[in-house]
Amino acid sequence: MMTVFVSIAVIFMSLCFWQGLSIYQSFHIRKYVKLAAVNISQEITVNIENRILALTRMAQRWEVGGGTSWEEWTADATNYVHDYSGYKVLGWVNSKYEVCWLVPESDPKEFELINLLLEEHRTISETTKKHQNPELTPTVILERGVKGFLIYVPLFVREKLKEQLSVSQSKSISQYQHQNAFDGFIVGVFQTQSLIDSILDEKIKREFAVEVFEGRNKIYRSSDIDFDSRIENRWSQEKEIKIGNVIWRLRIYPQPAFLRGEYSPFKNFVLSNGLITPALLTWAIYLMQSSQKYAKEVETKNRELANEVRERQKVEEELRDQNKALESAVVGISKLDVSGHYLKVNPAYADLLGYKAKELKGSIWQQTVHPEDREKANKAYERMLASEKAEIEVRAVRKDGSVFDKILVMVKAYDSEQRFSGHYGFMKDISQRREVERLKDEFISVVSHELRTPLTSIRGSLGLLAGGVLQTRPQQAQRMLQIAINNSDRLIRLINNILDIERIESGEVQMNKQICDVANLIHPAVEVMRDIAQKAGVTLSVNSVSARIWADPDRIIQVLTNLLSNAIKFSPSGSTVWLTAEVKEARISPQQQGNLNFSNSSTPYILFQVRDRGRGIPSNKLESIFGRFQQVDASDSRKKGGTGLGLAICRSIIQQHCGFIWAQSTENQGSTFYCQIPLSQEKEAATTTTTYSGESLALAKDNSSSSKKKSNTQQTSKVLIVEDDTDLAQVIISIFQRHGIETYHAKSGQEALEQSLALLPDLMILDLTLPLLSGFDVVEKLRQHKHLSNLPLVVYTAFDLSEKDQKRLKLGKTLLLTKARVTPEEFEQRAINLLKLVILEDKES
Ligand code: ADP
Repeated sequence: MMTVFVSIAVIFMSLCFWQGLSIYQSFHIRKYVKLAAVNISQEITVNIENRILALTRMAQRWEVGGGTSWEEWTADATNYVHDYSGYKVLGWVNSKYEVCWLVPESDPKEFELINLLLEEHRTISETTKKHQNPELTPTVILERGVKGFLIYVPLFVREKLKEQLSVSQSKSISQYQHQNAFDGFIVGVFQTQSLIDSILDEKIKREFAVEVFEGRNKIYRSSDIDFDSRIENRWSQEKEIKIGNVIWRLRIYPQPAFLRGEYSPFKNFVLSNGLITPALLTWAIYLMQSSQKYAKEVETKNRELANEVRERQKVEEELRDQNKALESAVVGISKLDVSGHYLKVNPAYADLLGYKAKELKGSIWQQTVHPEDREKANKAYERMLASEKAEIEVRAVRKDGSVFDKILVMVKAYDSEQRFSGHYGFMKDISQRREVERLKDEFISVVSHELRTPLTSIRGSLGLLAGGVLQTRPQQAQRMLQIAINNSDRLIRLINNILDIERIESGEVQMNKQICDVANLIHPAVEVMRDIAQKAGVTLSVNSVSARIWADPDRIIQVLTNLLSNAIKFSPSGSTVWLTAEVKEARISPQQQGNLNFSNSSTPYILFQVRDRGRGIPSNKLESIFGRFQQVDASDSRKKGGTGLGLAICRSIIQQHCGFIWAQSTENQGSTFYCQIPLSQEKEAATTTTTYSGESLALAKDNSSSSKKKSNTQQTSKVLIVEDDTDLAQVIISIFQRHGIETYHAKSGQEALEQSLALLPDLMILDLTLPLLSGFDVVEKLRQHKHLSNLPLVVYTAFDLSEKDQKRLKLGKTLLLTKARVTPEEFEQRAINLLKLVILEDKES
């Protein structure tokens, strides 16, 4: 805006200045032309007057000489004609008005012309003669087209005056006119054109067009005029020329060449500058603004480009991340074209199918689906085409032909213009899930069978007893009771096994490993099985060795017991079951090596063998029987009372000891179960007392005196039973009452605390899951009590306690027993033994 304003102002000022210069220039030219007109008119006047004067002098000489001889006059006249330009002729006309002499030529025509003119201007010549003054005639036509005029100078002769005139040359004509006797005229005939041409300066003629008018009659016009009416109209100047009685009008106007010289380029320079400068300024500003705009546009573009580059980098980074994620994804991902051929697969996809990624490229997807499932997969593909996405579980075929279960999600793919471009395939191996599902189904079917069958037996036998129909038949009643007891044991075994395997395999059960003598492991196992073997008519043959291993004794005894139990179960009566242990150097077969976790294969190990002469195990079952709920014959559980979990538990336990368990068998000849555990590298075994009860006896060797001060016999001993289950509490009360022990029952933790304070019992039997206060809380509170902090305690719980829990539950002498893991008989024996020990120590103190 500012630019436009400045430009307009500059243009306006330039125009004003230019206009000023134009006016000044015009004024200057006009003045010059006017001056020239004055000069030219003066010049013409003076020149003609000079000629008149010269003729007058000639006349004076005539007068002084009383006439002039022809020769003298001709010479004189010739000089005149020569010296003064413009003459056509110069002549002497006598007093009778006859032309006598003519210079330069005496052509008769000239005479005639002069005569004619004399006639024509008789009046003038008469006036001249009368006034004795030279006189100019108006313009005459000298010959065709040639204009001119005549000057008459009268001649008078007076002798006397000749002398006077010679004295004073400067006297005027008027001074002597009255003394003359008329002697004719000197007549000068002038051609106006040539006369004025000779008068005018060449420079004047170049610069101006000169015209002379007499009245309306143009009598002179300078030659070589560049006629331009506009110049003429604008610049012409007029001036009057008065010579005698003749009045001429001079008119001049400048020639273009002159004007060109007069016109100052400065004016145009100003104008052009005045126009060009703003134009340039505007253009420069336009360019500047354009360049600024362009620079801004470039800057914006650069910013946009930088943003675009950043965006692209971000997108590329995201793509890289996505690619990385795709590359490292555990799920198989593939991209396929519209015809179902692989375009790209991630490593997981190729790995799952046993191919290399590039091997799959170009192949058809149905090739990786089990032939029997292809129709199903094709239907899913159709569904995907119709509804964007489809999910299906089918069997996949690996490159090597092996089969696995997979879940396949097909998602329709589109290109950037939203055209269908194929599909994505997301694949996951669900073999493990299928296996788990299979195991779960199997577990439920086995467990439901295993639980319902003994429960039905228990319920049936107890129902008969409760109905009273067997009151008269005590033998049958006893048999029913035995059935109930056996099936209860079976149920307990099943539940313990299930819980065991879950906990062992999940690593929940910590192995309480210690240095154990092998003999101390074999002996209790055999002791537990002795009665059973006896009942089955099987002889147990044991061959032990003295060696030390780093093991959890209870768990190893559990393994040996299970192996012996199986061997006895499947041996015919009268046969022998052998249990041997021997130390071996580590020489492990390649087949075994893969399954062994020995940290150092050169470690010597103890090899247990349980051998029987039973029915044997088919070779294809030798490995599977170590799986859960696996039995050689489905009827084994029913016939032999097993659960199919024993060997699975054994394998878990042995594996946790960095050992290995396996079986060899010949059908109908017998089986041998091998179990090897690395020997302890300790030189000297720690002197730790090992127990093999199946439970940990957390005996605190606390020799401080019991809080119980009074000496009691068994009959006066008080036992506080803390159990919220009334039935179980009643069974426990009965057990102690059989020994004449005073019993008290608390149903909650709070009651347990109150009764403990009131009774100061000799022993407390404590369940852990109690209302209000838990068993843990009860122990915690009793620990803080002065008289009860050393109270002997039997924790009788359904939970398998961790080491940490065991520590938390320590009070006085503390025994930890798990319900159903110990039989009621075992419970009775241990609790009574503890009470006896306490009483004995009290007495001693
Ligand atoms: P169970 O509680 O059924 O005995 P196990 O896991 O201990 O469970 O044994 C699994 C199966 O292995 C048994 O049911 C039986 O079929 C087979 N088996 C185990 N030991 C022997 C053996 N010594 N002789 C023959 N078959 C055996």
